[in-house]
Amino acid sequence: MNLEKTEGVLSTTAKPDKVLVDEILSRAMGLNGLSHEDVSLLLNIEEEEMLHELCQAAGEIKELTMGKRISFFAPLYLSNDCTNNCLYCGFRRDNKSAVRVTLKEEDIIAEARFLQDQGFKHLLLVTGEDRGKNGVQYLSSAVRAILKHTEFRRININAPPMTIDEMRRLRGSGADLYQSFQETYHKETYAVMHPSGRKRDYVWRVGVIERAIEAGFSKVGMGTLLGLYDYRFEVLALLAHAALLRSRYGITPAALSVPRLRPAPDALLDKPPYPVSDSAFKKIVAIYRLALPYTDLTISTRESEKMRDEVIHTGASVLSAGSRTEPGGYTRSVSTGQFEIEDKRPLDVMEKVIRAAGLIPDL
Ligand code: SF4
Repeated sequence: MNLEKTEGVLSTTAKPDKVLVDEILSRAMGLNGLSHEDVSLLLNIEEEEMLHELCQAAGEIKELTMGKRISFFAPLYLSNDCTNNCLYCGFRRDNKSAVRVTLKEEDIIAEARFLQDQGFKHLLLVTGEDRGKNGVQYLSSAVRAILKHTEFRRININAPPMTIDEMRRLRGSGADLYQSFQETYHKETYAVMHPSGRKRDYVWRVGVIERAIEAGFSKVGMGTLLGLYDYRFEVLALLAHAALLRSRYGITPAALSVPRLRPAPDALLDKPPYPVSDSAFKKIVAIYRLALPYTDLTISTRESEKMRDEVIHTGASVLSAGSRTEPGGYTRSVSTGQFEIEDKRPLDVMEKVIRAAGLIPDL
């Protein structure tokens, strides 16, 4: 991945005029993605009218590739024990006020059954990074227990980077998709945000998606944490990373998340160094849809009701609902959460919202 080239493209790209934007949008309707140069031009859009056209095109592309369905999932936080110190996270090791919990098997099953009773069909298991407490052995057992004791059949994993052998074990347990967010592709920012712990190693983290593919995960998920660095760089770098996976393995990410930095309990970062406005956020979602027309685009409950109600028409295809970020948070709230939730509407309300918007909730 040539990040210097990415910086170069950004610094030399001008703002596009309407004629050029129309040309790019009509190319995008061919559903073959966009070039680096086209993405970088679209990232420079600021005028309302062009932004509106971009969002409209993204909505049309989403309908062409995925129809009217909006899928739902629930995150199930298994453990907030963590040996890393990410400045933006409530689970960071040096947060001494955090109440730490690593769920036992019976608690994991209770949480999963609670979500099953709510109507969810898809789970995303999430943990901090403490290899002694929530490493591959723990995660694989959690997946097996959920598959054995509940009706869930599709379990996705958001877990810290592992070796290929560990990934193989995880895949062998029945996990369907592995995802890991790079947080930021900008190396200097990465070093500042991740001052200690294994996560400090940029190369170890950026290589995890390839290790997951080599270990047998045909479905992988990616993302950056918006607000840590210039979003234009992050979007281009992520798409360059996705292009690399396609050329090396013939695999396009099955899922792409678009998390924007939120306040977190006792986080050291109290506001984003590079705030992303609502209008920039919508632009990012729309550009991802044009660039990766067949990839699921996930918008979590970090975003407001208003924003989520808008982006379901401009490219988003997957939402979480009624989420808790505390391990055990669905059945007993005694631990510390990872970040603050903004949209608190439960699944049954979200189903009605989706239908009222003329779309189809897909559980
Ligand atoms: S973001 Fe992940 S790795 Fe970093 S402190 Fe939080 S749980 Fe640990």
